[in-house]
Amino acid sequence: MLDTLPLLGSGFVICGAILLAMAIAPVWKLFSQLPTGGLRYSWGFLILLILFFIVGYIVYAQFNLMTFSQPLDLVVPVIFFCGAIFVLVVCTLSLKTTSDIMQMNALKQENITDPLTDIFNRRYLERRLKEETQKAQSYSNPLSIFLIDIDHFKIINDNYGHQIGDLVLKNIAQNIKMSLRESDIIARYGGEEFIVILPLTQVFTSYTLAERLRTVVENSKLAIPSDTGIDIISIGVTVSIGIAGLTSECKDYQCLIKNADTALYQAKQNGRNQVRMA
Ligand code: GH3
Ligand code: MG
Ligand code: MG
Repeated sequence: MLDTLPLLGSGFVICGAILLAMAIAPVWKLFSQLPTGGLRYSWGFLILLILFFIVGYIVYAQFNLMTFSQPLDLVVPVIFFCGAIFVLVVCTLSLKTTSDIMQMNALKQENITDPLTDIFNRRYLERRLKEETQKAQSYSNPLSIFLIDIDHFKIINDNYGHQIGDLVLKNIAQNIKMSLRESDIIARYGGEEFIVILPLTQVFTSYTLAERLRTVVENSKLAIPSDTGIDIISIGVTVSIGIAGLTSECKDYQCLIKNADTALYQAKQNGRNQVRMA
């Protein structure tokens, strides 16, 4: 039994060093996925620590390999070995947990995003509008919404094809999104209709913003190559916007949408490319 001790002790130290070396792979993967910042530096520091311990194991092995003669001599090699298992398990679990969380977040994001325009989808819009309406009601805060509809969009599809129509939709959604304030929420409500939620905003104040959005769309053109591929065609579209706000008569989100729709209808009737308030 005693003559196997040197082999056993050395085995623990060498296996410990190998397990530690294996722990570098998951930590490195985690490290490379993280954006530059404090957290990345902390994981980088952990990699350095692991390397330091591997060197420590090797130096220890240099002086003590095959010198273990008493069972008590095995205490340090066993601690080394268990420490290495601990580090490997923690590093592997950290990588797995982070990957799972990232995957969950990506799925959550996909669930609330419209794939074509990359803005929020209708499901998210309805939930958020309900929440914002209730919040505004309980704190007696103002709240407005815009219902935005592209003018004569069918003609764009008929003239240039559905794919170009998709590009125009995408372009308008992104242009509107970039013109909004941080607190405003834009979502695709239907085919070529968008809704913007403006928390803490009176209808009259929101009119100026709606006019700005209308002008932004009117002035932004989408450039596409012509069928021959030689010329560039510039496609311009306009939008009509219906505005509605919470009032003592209009207290829920369904009423807001209904009023915005009525205002939008008036904008269309009056010649399009304009903003109307409910
Ligand atoms: P109006 O000014 O009265 O709103 O006229 P319009 O042509 O925009 O209105 P209408 O509702 O008649 O047509 C909307 C068009 O939007 C019809 C439909 O083919 C198109 N559309 C809806 N969703 C999409 C989409 O995802 N991509 C493309 N390319 N077109 C779409
Ligand atoms: Mg429409
Ligand atoms: Mg339309």
